[in-house]
Amino acid sequence: MKNLLGSSVKDLENVALDYGEAAFRGRQIHNWIYNYRNKKKNIDQIEVLPLDFRKKLKDDGFKVSELCVQERKLANDGTLKLLLSTIDNENIECVGIPTEKRLTACLSSQVGCPMDCKFCATGKEGLKRSLKTSEILDQILFIENEMNRKVTNIVFMGMGEPLLNIDALLLSVRSINEDFQISQRKITVSTVAVPKMISRLSVKSFQFLGKCQFTLAISLHASNQKIRETIIPSAKNYEIKNIIEDCKKFVKDTGRRVSFEYLMLRGVNDNLEHAYELSNLLKGFQCHVNLIQYNKIEEVEFKRTSLKNLQLFQSILVKNGIAVSSRKSRGLDKNAACGQLRQSAKHK
Ligand code: SF4
Repeated sequence: MKNLLGSSVKDLENVALDYGEAAFRGRQIHNWIYNYRNKKKNIDQIEVLPLDFRKKLKDDGFKVSELCVQERKLANDGTLKLLLSTIDNENIECVGIPTEKRLTACLSSQVGCPMDCKFCATGKEGLKRSLKTSEILDQILFIENEMNRKVTNIVFMGMGEPLLNIDALLLSVRSINEDFQISQRKITVSTVAVPKMISRLSVKSFQFLGKCQFTLAISLHASNQKIRETIIPSAKNYEIKNIIEDCKKFVKDTGRRVSFEYLMLRGVNDNLEHAYELSNLLKGFQCHVNLIQYNKIEEVEFKRTSLKNLQLFQSILVKNGIAVSSRKSRGLDKNAACGQLRQSAKHK
């Protein structure tokens, strides 16, 4: 199968030329694919193209979209979670998070995940495989189609560890930026941190994209190595102080501040002494901390911190000069947290 999705204008012009068509036919394909108003993303629907050209593309195995919706879950706040199936019958999840001005797409980068974070439903299933660039981008088409509006922001916070699928990740970022016309500054790549990969990300970004302007978000979730290892088993391979050093280098190399995600888990990492410890760890560093309330999942013991405790924790960081915000979880309905639709579908 050959994917038209994720191909640049130039690539599509070359496809048209290869079939003896004028280059502008490639531009027509490009305009058609990335216009969210075009609903059914199959070649038959590209009616601006001559019928015989469409037939040749189809006969030669070209496709636009290759995923299928298996399940939709709409939360009271408008957040839409989709369970999508791949052509090899694997399931992945993506989420559309709307506000008045924005539609943020939360995308998966892998089928499952090898990182086994203790608070995450996806980690329970292990890794099946990494997604292709077209499968990553296809999630945006589905969210736009289902929500009938254009995606404005992207977060790679769905299933998988994006830095373990770095080439497909960066090719997706290129397409999101140039084809979907979403600024790199509106893209966030979230990672639990993999040794050597933070520096590789900045080097490869300049190679693949010529710039590195997206936001890097580190799922830190702890103020010291000991706690981090209890909730993120893979953390034992990467000391927290080395993560911070590598992030400082990332800031120097790219000029972009780093975000640290901190999931507040009651009695685990949410004591006020942890707020002081975190402040010391991050002092003097161009960064931002995002405190997140926890979504409970089955088979996992963690509990949500109280709002009062979250606010106290936040105030300590602020007093110590750390830029901080708190994020309410969206889509809190039963089984709507990360990885849970896939898990419940498997158990049906
Ligand atoms: S939180 Fe992210 S990195 Fe950790 S297991 Fe879940 S999907 Fe993987």
